[in-house]
Amino acid sequence: MENVKYKRVLLKLSGESLMGEDAFGINRKTIMKIVAQVKEIADMGVQVGIVVGGGNIFRGVSSQAGSMDRATADYMGMMATVMNALALKDAFESAGAKARVQTALQMQQVAEMYARPKAIQYMEEGKIVIFAGGTGNPFFTTDTAAALRGAEMCCEVMLKATNVDGVYTADPKKDPSATRYQSVTFDEAIQKKLKVMDTTAFTLCQERHLNIVVFSIHKEGALKDVVLGKDEGTLVHN
Ligand code: UDP
Repeated sequence: MENVKYKRVLLKLSGESLMGEDAFGINRKTIMKIVAQVKEIADMGVQVGIVVGGGNIFRGVSSQAGSMDRATADYMGMMATVMNALALKDAFESAGAKARVQTALQMQQVAEMYARPKAIQYMEEGKIVIFAGGTGNPFFTTDTAAALRGAEMCCEVMLKATNVDGVYTADPKKDPSATRYQSVTFDEAIQKKLKVMDTTAFTLCQERHLNIVVFSIHKEGALKDVVLGKDEGTLVHN
């Protein structure tokens, strides 16, 4: 194994990261690029769990769902994450990596049910475990599911993949003088009102001493650099 900083990681992929330039759904080229980056770190011996979102297909709080019962809309959102998980598994397999899907919702014909010991076993066997269905409960997000699974799997870090390569002093798209934080503490992030993740997910990470690295999944080599401990993204720590 190369000299990696983290041996077991929880990667949070938003549904939107799978869309590429498309307005909706899954872009094959984009998903294959993401899968190649993840396979690269798995081949280095890093154990990888992934929590995938569903925002590219359906979001419970979206305006179209505004007139719907929120819990029903959230279950639809959770089902969207299962679709993304199946697409990811398929993409991993076509790239020659072994992957398993575990879902928080019972869907036995589609994927096995989430079981912590089995998930840990898969990771130890070098299989990439994709956690689908969020937390299995409405009113939560997949960021919270990522914090939960990251803590349960005893991951050393949560890698939050975004479209921006870290946390900035201001929105870099609006303010060209904005600079990236190399690292920031949980308390500083709260004080400075830096948006890292939703409050529930953020608090769970802080309480469980699960550090977060915010990085860009679309920057080639960034994921590898993060696990090697290079200056990439923003580290949020206690
Ligand atoms: N969701 C939920 N409970 C969970 C996780 C997700 O109800 O534990 C629903 C919620 O409606 C959410 C949707 O699934 O809007 C998709 O998840 P999320 O918005 O977190 O996806 P992302 O933004 O990461 O693509």
